[in-house]
Amino acid sequence: MEVVRLPRVRTVIAIAAALTMTAAACAGQRPPEPPTAVEPPGREALAEAHWAYQGEEGPQHWGSLSPEFATCESGRAQSPVDLTAPDDVDLADLEFGYGSSTLKIIDNGHTIRADVQPGNTLTIDGTRFELAQFHFHAPSEHTIDGASSPMELHLVHLGPNGAIAVVAVMIVEGARHAALAAVWDNLPAGRDAPAAAPRPVDLNDLLPTNRDDYRYAGSLTTPPCTEGVAWNILVTPIAMSTDQIAAFTARYPADNRPLEPLNGRHVVLDRAS
Ligand SMILES: [Zn+2]
Repeated sequence: MEVVRLPRVRTVIAIAAALTMTAAACAGQRPPEPPTAVEPPGREALAEAHWAYQGEEGPQHWGSLSPEFATCESGRAQSPVDLTAPDDVDLADLEFGYGSSTLKIIDNGHTIRADVQPGNTLTIDGTRFELAQFHFHAPSEHTIDGASSPMELHLVHLGPNGAIAVVAVMIVEGARHAALAAVWDNLPAGRDAPAAAPRPVDLNDLLPTNRDDYRYAGSLTTPPCTEGVAWNILVTPIAMSTDQIAAFTARYPADNRPLEPLNGRHVVLDRAS
């Protein structure tokens, strides 16, 4: 999948930065060094650009907060979108190669993120991706037939040449989620104090049994809104308890980007066999 407008080296850096920068950026610090000797132009602007979900640094203004965020405004394949009237197609099913992982739990100023250990894979049509982290939005960013959910889980995977694939799982209110209790019972005290889950979590427990999914080509839903992201939104939600949802929304009551237009893109629905 093509990543628009950015040459490869900068794309990799932008993606690495997008995944790691937010806490450092909003604390006015430099993000961690990317694994390259190439210093791209504009990186200082990226490191210093703040963004938010409300007000003058809110989503309507992201594109003008930094040159690195221009795609947020000019991009034609942005996320999230409403998932309605998909084309019903038969694709190769998503192949999850998840196992157990310890979690490093981070409050990055925009969401709660859990970084996982290497070795958890997702294969889409023969292309292998590796799970880097998962994080949450409330309410959901994507909508299904116009309906939003209380929360949305994003499992972010990195693939060859900086490719990104995200698996999204809607979260509805219901029974307590035992695996995610490892996150909600161990929230970090603050932005600069990562926490750890006391024991490994089976990442398969984050997925519903049914793996039917909507797919489309979109973008990161946070600055720099990089395009070329393979989105896979599972049709079946998972549940968390009222208390677990409240543990998140007490910190982040509204960290969802508004819907973006499809601009001619097609959403497909793959029914898992
Ligand atoms: Zn997300």
